[in-house]
Order: sequence, then structure tokens, then C-alpha cells
Amino acid sequence: MEQTIAIKPIEYEHPSEGGSCVAHAWARTPATPSPEQRAELIARIKRLLKEREAVLVAHYYVDADLQDLAEETGGCVSDSLEMARFGRDHPAKTLVVAGVRFMGETAKILSPDKTILMPDLDATCSLDLGCPADEFTAFCDAHPDRTVVVYANTSAAVKARADWMVTSSIGLDIVKHLHEQGKKILWAPDKHLGGYIQKETGADMLLWQGSCLVHDEFKGVELDLLKAEYPNAKVLVHPESPANVVAQADVVGSTSQMIAAAVNMDADTFIVATDNGILHKMRTAAPGKTFIEAPTAGNSATCKSCAHCPWMAMNGLQNLAEVLENMGNEIHVDPEIGKLAVKSINRMLDFAAAKKAKVAPGADLAREAKLFKGIGPA
Ligand code: SF4
Repeated sequence: MEQTIAIKPIEYEHPSEGGSCVAHAWARTPATPSPEQRAELIARIKRLLKEREAVLVAHYYVDADLQDLAEETGGCVSDSLEMARFGRDHPAKTLVVAGVRFMGETAKILSPDKTILMPDLDATCSLDLGCPADEFTAFCDAHPDRTVVVYANTSAAVKARADWMVTSSIGLDIVKHLHEQGKKILWAPDKHLGGYIQKETGADMLLWQGSCLVHDEFKGVELDLLKAEYPNAKVLVHPESPANVVAQADVVGSTSQMIAAAVNMDADTFIVATDNGILHKMRTAAPGKTFIEAPTAGNSATCKSCAHCPWMAMNGLQNLAEVLENMGNEIHVDPEIGKLAVKSINRMLDFAAAKKAKVAPGADLAREAKLFKGIGPA
């Protein structure tokens, strides 16, 4: 008989230490600058990036100005995996990561010789918070027969305990591969993404019971009502959302896959179930199309996020300019933990590379598309 998972609930509103709760995050959200301040900060950041020979990598969920700045200055705006890959392969010795802490840590793990800075080191993630390394290690130790697969949204120490790290786009393929090899899986931390992969692959998966504060709030019943109002809209859902939301999706995918669907699908209206920061990229990539946020309000709604991550919102022009000015807020990862964690990350990168390599140039495009389904950034 398997040991049941006893996870302590995370009380986001009342942090016990470290000041990482939702209220703290919202209180630390930078004030909106005036048009004059905004122009001055943008010019200052551009100048400092050059002076410091630094590159800015930003997540799709952060402030639109930071996304634009990353692209305009030769950095990148992307998902967590592509941010880390881009940072690793870029010649700059200093990376400024506009996102949340595990993204800075992943960048450091993949680029240990680079300086990694972040606008606010308290910007964390409910999935990371909900999976403390000591409890997770004990859980893994209690199930030594299982292959440990963790999501990117975890601390370096949790990645170090894992056999594989995966992103939302490739997790399904990797679990399917392990299932075909007869492996039983221990999955952490997101219960919704784990449940989705379990359903799709039929794998034997023991799930840690974490969730994303933002995606957990999307409501299936209210989404159904919204779809009735917009019968021609296509529904794009990130798989960190609850199963009754995922079940209504036309496309379930990672942030990059959702943006690609918004651009490529033959529809002019989309209902989007992920952090609303992504709408900036969708609107610029697919101008003329209409994007509607999936509902977070309704019965039993708590709306701690209202479709926007409070920790992503801690990144702003002001604190970005300050870290570049002071070269402060550096991310450090214990080198011994980094050496272990990089193995689980590289397994995923090698798996993706091997899968892509199987497709010869000029191969049948339909087959190629099928093969690449799920390969790509998170
Ligand atoms: S949106 Fe969710 S998964 Fe992403 S950083 Fe915020 S809490 Fe974590």
C-alpha cells in the first residue's frame, strides 16, 4: 500500500518566514510610473544594459514594458526553459532575469559562471513554495521504486533530488517515454499538470498536491457560461488549470504553444486561461484578433491573483534599473546542488534534442508536426 501524501497547506496570506506571501507580493508591486518617468527609466535601462554588457531575459507574464525592452535590446521574452537556454547560449556574462526566483536559479544552474541578477529576489512561485526540499526528499525516500519527475517550477534543491526536470510542453512526452519503459512515476509539484499527464499517458503517477495560485483560480462552470456568450471563440488553456477547465479547451499547451495557437488558428476570438501577462504577446503577435481572459470569479472564488501572478508583478522598470545600477540582487545556487540539479535539466534537454534529431530534413511535415508536438519551451 502506497503511503498517502501528507502535504502541509501553504497559507499564502500569512507567511511564516521570508515574507513571500501574496499580500507581501502585491504590496511590493512597483508603482506605475508617469509617462515622463517611464521614458526616463526605459532610456536608463537601455544605457545600463550596454554599459554592464548585460542581457535581459523576461517571461511572458511580466510587465509589458519589460517584455518589449527585452526584445528591443537583443534579449528575449519567452517561457522559463527558453529563458534559461537563451541565457546559457548568449555571450553576455551578466543575465538579468525578469521573472520569478526559480527561473533565476535555473539560469544560474545552466550558466554557473555567469552573474544572474533579478529585479526582486522575493519574487517566488506558489508551486515552489508548496514543495519544500526537505519534505520532498522524505517523500521520495519513501518511494524508492519510482522515477522522480519534477516540473521546472521548483527550487534548485528539489531539482537536485529529481531524476528528470520537465516543462509543461515536454512533460507529457517524457512521462509517456518512461511509462513505455515500465517506470512508475513520482510527480511534483503541480497536481493539475500531473493529473493531465496521467490521464493522457495512462502512466502510474503518484502526485504531489501543489498548485499554481493563478491557474488554480480558473473556474469551469463560469468558463462554460463565457463560451456560450462567445460561441465562435477558441479556448486556449494552460495545463496547470483544473481538469474541468482543461476539458473545455480547444488547445491545451505551454505558454509558447498557446501563443502559436493564437497566431495560427483560424479564429478571431480566443478565451485564454493563463496569466493575463501573456495577452501582450498575443495581441502583438496576432493583431486584429480578440483575446478574453478566462473567468476567475464565481462560486467559491477567492481571486488572490485575478489571473495575474503577484510574484511576476513584482518586476518593474524601477527595480530593474536599480539592479543594473547597483549590480545587486544576485542569484546564488550552492555549487554542489547545482551540479546535481543540472543532471535532471540536461536529461530533458538531451531528450528533446534526440527526439528532434530523429526527424531528417525534408521529412513528411505531418509526421514532423506530430513528433514535435509537446517539444519546445514551457
Ligand atoms: S503564474 Fe503560477 S506557476 Fe507561474 S510563477 Fe506565478 S504562481 Fe508560479
